[in-house]
Amino acid sequence: MSTAERFFAKCPNQRSESSRHFALSEKSAAKHKSARSMCIISGFLKSERLMATSMVATKYIVGNWKLHGSTQENAVRLAALKAGCRHGDALAVCVPFPYLAQAQQALQGSAIGWGAQNVSEQAKGAFTGEVSAAMLADFGCSCAIVGHSERRALYGEDDATVARKAQAVAEAGMTPIVCVGETLAERKCGEMVQVVTRQLAAVLAHVSAETKQRLVIAYEPVWAIGTGLAASEDDVREVHALLRGQLEKAGVTGTRLLYGGSVKASNAGALLNTANVDGALVGGASLDAEEFLKIAQAARA
Ligand code: PEP
Repeated sequence: MSTAERFFAKCPNQRSESSRHFALSEKSAAKHKSARSMCIISGFLKSERLMATSMVATKYIVGNWKLHGSTQENAVRLAALKAGCRHGDALAVCVPFPYLAQAQQALQGSAIGWGAQNVSEQAKGAFTGEVSAAMLADFGCSCAIVGHSERRALYGEDDATVARKAQAVAEAGMTPIVCVGETLAERKCGEMVQVVTRQLAAVLAHVSAETKQRLVIAYEPVWAIGTGLAASEDDVREVHALLRGQLEKAGVTGTRLLYGGSVKASNAGALLNTANVDGALVGGASLDAEEFLKIAQAARA
């Protein structure tokens, strides 16, 4: 029984909606695959710095270091990643702001991208403590995470703010990695579909047509983040099919959908092989270079 079924057993109304999305999943995955091939052929992916080796339709593996690191620790980890990265891998690490210069210096010329975990929605001005998208671009960032659940829950970021941040990141020429995902309470109450749909809809309603083509969406169920309890493949298949359907309905095809939440070497293969999963956003396991590289290895299989 999937985690979704376990919760839906308590919330019978949700069951039929969930089965509808399941039915859509395989068809959408196939359609998406062909749209992505077209992107690769047209060179769209090649133009993204995140996809330094993008001619191969590989999975994105993005590390989120969160509030961890020191110059000493980072030096060791970045050197190990650089040494272990293989041709065709599409890896990136999102480091704390003060270490962007270090990441840039260590990873420049490698196939590994680097980025930030947050960004200001403002371009410049009297916004003490903020970091703009242009500043991130200045440090060679290829991507920035926006709307991580920790930002939403602990720092009060709402859907509208997340959408403005996504637009700012794209306007600066980077890839916005937009996180969506429901809490355990929301899932238990049968609100998963409503929550993730609302979060994505807010972004799609605000950003430009050009930004829509640049979006990477990470489904990160809050209950799976940092808990060691990843979502089941069935859960991920269901939500990714839902997101794919919503994107396609909005005329956006070929979007990369990442899964995040307790991804590690031991479960990466199965999760990455799930329909409509184009990569992973990895928190805790990205702090261990060996583990992160094993996830990258799983993405190659
Ligand atoms: C995250 O914070 O984005 C995340 C997925 O964390 P973890 O892999 O540790 O669950």
